Amino acid sequence: MDEARVVAVYGRQVVCEAGGALVACNVVGSLLRDHGPLAAGDRVRLERSGDEGIVRERLARRAALTRSPRRPGLPPRVWAANVDLVLGVVSIRQPDFSAGLADRITVAASVGGLRLLLCVNKWDLAEEGDEAQVQPYVDAGFRVVRTSATSGLGMDELARELAGRDTVAVGHSGVGKSSLLNHLVPGLRIRVNEVNAVTGRGRHTTTTATWVPLPAGGALVDTPGVRSLGLATDATALPRHFPEFDPYLGRCEFDDCAHDSEPGCAVRAAVEAGEVPRLRHEGYLRIRESLLAGNG
Ligand code: GDP
Ligand code: ZN
Repeated sequence: MDEARVVAVYGRQVVCEAGGALVACNVVGSLLRDHGPLAAGDRVRLERSGDEGIVRERLARRAALTRSPRRPGLPPRVWAANVDLVLGVVSIRQPDFSAGLADRITVAASVGGLRLLLCVNKWDLAEEGDEAQVQPYVDAGFRVVRTSATSGLGMDELARELAGRDTVAVGHSGVGKSSLLNHLVPGLRIRVNEVNAVTGRGRHTTTTATWVPLPAGGALVDTPGVRSLGLATDATALPRHFPEFDPYLGRCEFDDCAHDSEPGCAVRAAVEAGEVPRLRHEGYLRIRESLLAGNG
């Protein structure tokens, strides 16, 4: 059997790269039943004949970026496996900066145990005072890069950050993710079209997350723009995914403190003292509410 990398998943069909060639594969039912669907980035063993194959085994995943299941009770969906870094793309204007989305991206990266690079694009459109919207993320210790795919601002920095790493890029549609990635990875579109063509799918649409090797080493998984980023975690675990809460967790009056309006809450006290950005605490409460309502 050959070892291979899953580069794209289309339901039960996947495209793998084995020895430099793209192979259209089916996945044996027992693998899907026991371990759930494969994801871009998975390492697998397959039986190959020419440009077709059957995936029989999945090797252990090093790390993965997940999202909430389609229905409660199902396992989380995996966006990309065996990555080191999440490139979270948001825009400062057109559409306006969304703290809600930025917060969800930070939590998703943390749930996967992945480093985050928050890319704030369309900085050429930034207005007076916009810096303040980004500052809470810098204060929390996240790597933040301001970019403009139109002016080229920050593009060298972004390229340096991605070189040699296995990165998954996520973002709402319209923030300029494709513009950025096409700039950074010459031939990205062509490669994605080649992968899509292996299964005869839409040649000119990004239908699924696709693993693309980078010329400078490492790889990039581009994901289709999403409308919402459902989180594969729950309200109880959520505080642990806000790194700026860390020094205060375990110091609240009640062990099961939700860090909302309970008396003796150390997190709330830190917000009042200006040690935790109020915007991030508000973001935490919004996500908590949505998780409690079962909306992921
Ligand atoms: P995606 O949906 O996130 O992949 O976004 P696109 O790359 O398709 O870009 C959406 C729109 O934003 C297009 O009209 C782009 O020309 C525009 N755009 C992308 N990046 C920038 C940027 O840095 N500055 C400005 N002003 N416009 C941008
Ligand atoms: Zn508390």
